[in-house]
Amino acid sequence: TGQVETHEFQSEARQLLQLMIHSIYSNKDIFLRELVSNASDALDKLRLETYRDKELQADTDDLHIEIDLDTEARTVTVRDNGIGMSRDDVVNLIGTIAKSGTAEFLRKLKEAKDEAKGAAGQDLIGQFGVGFYSSFMVADKVTLVTRRAGTGEGVRWESAGEGTYTIEPVADAPQGTSVTLHLKPVDDEDHLYDYASPWKIREIVKRYSDFITWPVKMAKTGTPEASAPEEDTSEDGAGEAAAPELETVNSMKALWARSKDEVSDEEYHEFYKHISHDWTDPLETVRMQAEGTFEYQALLFLPSRAPMDLFMRDAKRGVQLYVKRVFIMDDCEALMPNYLRFVKGVVDAQDLSLNVSREILQQDRQIRAIRRRLEKKVLATVKTMMTEDAEKYATFWREFGRAVKEGLLDDPENREQILEISSFASTHHAENPTSLRDYVSRMKDGQEHIYFATGESRGTIENSPHLEAFRAKGYEVLILTDPVDEMWVDGVTGFDGKSFQSVAKGEVDLGDDKTTDEQKADYADLLKWMSASLSESVKEVRLSSRLTTSPSCVVGDAGDLTPTLEKMYRAMGQ
Ligand code: ADP
Ligand code: MG
Repeated sequence: TGQVETHEFQSEARQLLQLMIHSIYSNKDIFLRELVSNASDALDKLRLETYRDKELQADTDDLHIEIDLDTEARTVTVRDNGIGMSRDDVVNLIGTIAKSGTAEFLRKLKEAKDEAKGAAGQDLIGQFGVGFYSSFMVADKVTLVTRRAGTGEGVRWESAGEGTYTIEPVADAPQGTSVTLHLKPVDDEDHLYDYASPWKIREIVKRYSDFITWPVKMAKTGTPEASAPEEDTSEDGAGEAAAPELETVNSMKALWARSKDEVSDEEYHEFYKHISHDWTDPLETVRMQAEGTFEYQALLFLPSRAPMDLFMRDAKRGVQLYVKRVFIMDDCEALMPNYLRFVKGVVDAQDLSLNVSREILQQDRQIRAIRRRLEKKVLATVKTMMTEDAEKYATFWREFGRAVKEGLLDDPENREQILEISSFASTHHAENPTSLRDYVSRMKDGQEHIYFATGESRGTIENSPHLEAFRAKGYEVLILTDPVDEMWVDGVTGFDGKSFQSVAKGEVDLGDDKTTDEQKADYADLLKWMSASLSESVKEVRLSSRLTTSPSCVVGDAGDLTPTLEKMYRAMGQ
């Protein structure tokens, strides 16, 4: 029929494929999880598409995933009758890696390798989902045949993972996608891991994909599962062999609908990996159940690592929305405030329409109520973590603290709660950040404010003359170096009844101003002269008791911008 074309993989794709072929990742079983996960996504997408587009000529009768084994030919095929891909989809989705941060990831990986940090390399690859490409861990050739639902012609894609792939049209492809892995020869020592074994495949499906809400079918064990029965030699179907009897091997139970103690941590973790496309276990799992007028279930996860695009404008955010077990949308931003955009999970609402759109969701009062509840639950979870597992909390804060602090500005309603779970570097300890609670508990007699200094780095802040008087009095100062700190310190007045006070602004009242009237008289002439000669640059020159070793320093007025913020605005041309 059509022309076979040979294409080159995009260079980043090629590098990732090399990693797969040379098996940098130790757990090869997960190739199947990735393929089943893609098949499940494709079925979700098809169902959604048919809700939206009533004209779509798609077959939705018997949506399922099927895994075929050919033990003779040593192939594993994962097939779905979902949305499928067009030719352009195949070239763009399978031939390139569009994930943001890929280049950065590869650079880090190379660094780790150059420094012979093998473990670091493992660790890195673990956090970067390679999805479809993981097929090449176990296969030396992969064939993908697909047809986009509602279109006529299919596509066949094939590659050995070494630099190029071929692509050609196929006339009679069924709707959906089938991916056939031509398994690598089994090493002797590896015999336990032969993926051409139906038992092995079943076991992996049970372990990693049991919760998938579509049936995953396989030939019944005991019936011949060979896909090419010997007596079938004719093409015309006269000698057609009985198709092997199929059975569903996964339980298909939505985890969030099962009782809490019926689900193991491992199951939760696999589910997390399926929905987040992350390869690392989550830090924390959160479950919620609301009954009554507006019923919903939620299963949320705090990841253990920040995604590379956490601070990019077009970063994905929000959780998945289901309505009565039916997947409705990914990245439902109406369900999670922006500052908690890293939270992953599922919300299954009972009373929404299946046709609900993003616009409707943004307006919906019940959705807003759910969002408030989810937000409070996440904050409460972090607070518990803080008291019960300091190490976990430290990881959480290191990864997501900068995002969480955005909430101090965005969400005045929960400000006190957010302050409660925040921690900050401080002069109290060189490495460990402190909570505000702990700061307050260490406040000296007579200390009224929570003091902070903002700046580019801990070093510059510590060397600043502004800190001298505080150091001399033994007052602790928070060291704020994130850009977001500059923003919230202006909007947030205090914590636990104590106000925040910049060490660089106004007349800091340290309670014992030692400048006497006599001193003021002595220096009056000098100050007058200095004020006049510096009038271009400063508003006023005053005598101060805040310095101990430096002769002078520049301070801002109470209402002024901090120096860093001033610099930021200047950089933005304002
Ligand atoms: P991810 O699933 O994280 O997006 P993958 O590498 O697993 O990354 O897949 C890349 C893309 O290829 C998917 O996002 C999807 O658009 C497409 N794709 C993969 N498998 C299928 C499939 N079975 N049906 C339809 N599209 C698929
Ligand atoms: Mg995938």
